Amino acid sequence: MTKSYEIIDHHYDVIVIGAGGSGLRATLGSAELGLKTACISKVFPTRSHTVAAQGGIGAALGNMGEDNWKWHMYDTVKGSDWLGDQDAIEYLCSKAPEAVIELENYGMPFSRTEDGKIYQRPFGGHLTKNGEGPPAMRACAAADRTGHAMLHTLYQQSLKHKVEFFIEYFVLDLLMDDSSNCLGVVAWNLEDGTIHRFLTHQTILATGGYGRAYLSSTSAHICTGDGSAMALRQNLPLSDMEFIQFHPTGVYGAGVLITEGARGEGGYLTNNDGERFMERYAPNAKDLASRDVVSRAMTIEINEKRGCGEKADHVLLHLEHLDPETLLKRLPGISETAKIFAGVNLTKEPIPVLPTVHYNMGGIPTNYRTEVLNPTKENPENICEGLMAVGEAACVSVHGANRLGTNSLIDLIVFGKAASITAKEKVKPNSAKLSLRQSSTDLILERFDNIRYNKGELTTGEIRQSMQEIMQSKCAVFRTKELISKGIEEFGNIETSMKNINVKDKSLIFNTDLTEALELNNLIAQSKVTLHSALYRTESRGAHAREDFKDRDDKNWLAHSLSWLNADGKVSLDKRSVHMNTLSNHAQSIPPKKRVY
Ligand SMILES: Cc1cc2nc3c(=O)[nH]c(=O)nc-3n(C[C@H](O)[C@H](O)[C@H](O)COP(=O)(O)OP(=O)(O)OC[C@H]3O[C@@H](n4cnc5c(N)ncnc54)[C@H](O)[C@@H]3O)c2cc1C
Repeated sequence: MTKSYEIIDHHYDVIVIGAGGSGLRATLGSAELGLKTACISKVFPTRSHTVAAQGGIGAALGNMGEDNWKWHMYDTVKGSDWLGDQDAIEYLCSKAPEAVIELENYGMPFSRTEDGKIYQRPFGGHLTKNGEGPPAMRACAAADRTGHAMLHTLYQQSLKHKVEFFIEYFVLDLLMDDSSNCLGVVAWNLEDGTIHRFLTHQTILATGGYGRAYLSSTSAHICTGDGSAMALRQNLPLSDMEFIQFHPTGVYGAGVLITEGARGEGGYLTNNDGERFMERYAPNAKDLASRDVVSRAMTIEINEKRGCGEKADHVLLHLEHLDPETLLKRLPGISETAKIFAGVNLTKEPIPVLPTVHYNMGGIPTNYRTEVLNPTKENPENICEGLMAVGEAACVSVHGANRLGTNSLIDLIVFGKAASITAKEKVKPNSAKLSLRQSSTDLILERFDNIRYNKGELTTGEIRQSMQEIMQSKCAVFRTKELISKGIEEFGNIETSMKNINVKDKSLIFNTDLTEALELNNLIAQSKVTLHSALYRTESRGAHAREDFKDRDDKNWLAHSLSWLNADGKVSLDKRSVHMNTLSNHAQSIPPKKRVY
């Protein structure tokens, strides 16, 4: 069957898969450094999920109050519940201010202070003086459309540098050589149905998260973590997959996000008694405690029958006490969101909200240079040559067990740029073309055909719905051994169903039926390792709250989890040490202590 595909070859120094914030920053950086660079994306670049980011990008600029990158580092380590690698966190926080100024110089239209500086607002978990001082004004914002402003800026700069874009190309899989080094990818051009092989010295995966594994998620429908599934298929591990961030304020019913910036501007939550319940759970930071803390508090309120509405199944977010002009100026997007998705005029009434899946802390493990790790028993830091990963697809790990708001956007641009620097070190511009054995391409197209021509009975939508229901009910805010084991058991049916899938449309041109089936296959792989990793980690840390192991267990679990999906469908698990060391002597290692807000 695969013989029928004509294959078009391309050669580049660097290819970037993904045109979200991380992919575009890596693309732009590589092009600026003189590398022949191509960027491949399954959607038009400015439709990537980064465009939806609202509240801000974290950097200790100190424009609106005292701040220091070391305090940002402290907050990030604490926010991560000590699971973040401190060398990578130092790299992130120390480079953050210059990375934001760089964006400003690229032309990003930030909101401004009276004296013309970049506007900054407080955000959950960001404090001053190593957690002892008042909230830090650290989230640099373009109203509540920060991701939109950033993505358009990066796309325009990439065009200026004459980057070659392959838009609406769906990458199917990685091409590897016999020594498990990466040589490029195979992609399907959605517009005309042709198959393309990209051969390159460095492949940068910037394919985003897999929020769509869950029923209720703030992510776009395209967030199916394709790159991470590709890594799993090459027998590379994923790291810390049990850590799924629930954002406290998804609009009840719709799941659409109301930015934490809303609470940053003075919004607060109440239960059915009208009580500001966060004061009980986080006496200091209150509504601006870390996301995992607020999501758990909301879930407890609902479980203990203090939820709002007929079914007592949500809480309320209040903004109606704020000055309508501030709302219009600082939060115009969410005013619209509240109206459309909750039917609420937020200057007059509260918004019904519920914790909703928002971010994947886990992903493809890398070092701070963004090189993908392929840990072995002898060398836990072993590198997969030719492959890098950035953004939500990667696990650097700067977010550890829980990401602070605004720390993803800064992660995208700091490590996007880092990837281009590493690529420049490793690749000589216009270096020799690579050649490859045909059989590796055949294997990729065989998998493609197996899904395309499968003679089953179930639709992608049906299988996806069942998978999402399992993840939502068995691997959410609170977990137990019983619950997760049940999820794993039920998940067996999903895998059986996938064998019984029927893609009705067999064509190759704008075939959304086939694209969604491939995406579902990717989601299934990641959901499976997520469930197994959640069962594996017998402690509570950050976003992973086990009711049967309520405490953090640093003795046994101050470690990243690693999960492999073997060819026979079984999951293997292991651990890797957390880097407690800093990168330089400018920063000091922060020893674990109890995490209270
Ligand atoms: C509603 C919302 C609001 C948010 N607000 C904030 C905020 O205010 N501050 C903050 O720090 N973080 C925020 N986040 C988190 C942050 O926006 C994301 O983590 C981040 O944008 C992810 O960027 P990325 O570059 O990793 O991937 P994405 O932006 O998700 O882009 C992924 C790219 O990969 C491409 N791709 C994927 N699979 C394939 C394939 N098979 N073939 C070809 N191309 C492929 C896609 O086309 C896309 O271009 C928010 C997230 C959401 C959902």
